[in-house]
Amino acid sequence: MYRIVKACYIDMAHRIRGHEGKCRFLHGHTCRIDVSVSCETLNALGMVVDFGWLKERILHQIEKGFDHTLVLGQPDRDGINKIADLDPTSGCGKCVKVLGEALGLLTPLGSVMELGVVTLHNMSNPTAENLAKWCFDRADFEIQPLEVGEKRGLKVDYIRVYEQLHPTESYAEYFK
Ligand SMILES: [Zn+2]
Repeated sequence: MYRIVKACYIDMAHRIRGHEGKCRFLHGHTCRIDVSVSCETLNALGMVVDFGWLKERILHQIEKGFDHTLVLGQPDRDGINKIADLDPTSGCGKCVKVLGEALGLLTPLGSVMELGVVTLHNMSNPTAENLAKWCFDRADFEIQPLEVGEKRGLKVDYIRVYEQLHPTESYAEYFK
């Protein structure tokens, strides 16, 4: 078996709902994300895949999706959607919407995307574990058509999300 690994870095904010410690508060990380791809047989150029392809098709997508964003789990997203759906003509609805705008969670039009808020749909919390799973599925989506064409046992090996690099490393990994 052959294996290659390439990393990217993203700055992101999140909070962990239900956490008993300080992780329940909104805070940020500079995360390193490792993407590992393996195969049984190398391609005609003697590679697993070109590092440039890995960067363009997978790492850039991760950076585009998450760098400088606030990442939410589904329950937090549902909460924001409820605020966006409030009747702005009712007293309570108007107050809460103004609060949402003031907190930077809503634009006047109710859009959260342009404010750099992304959601890990159907995931309870934006943990490193869930982010690793999201990245794995995205990478798998890119790799599968290559494997169908080339039949070299090409697969995503693992995704590793480092929430902390200094003074000690801590990371979560997703693999199959
Ligand atoms: Zn955190």
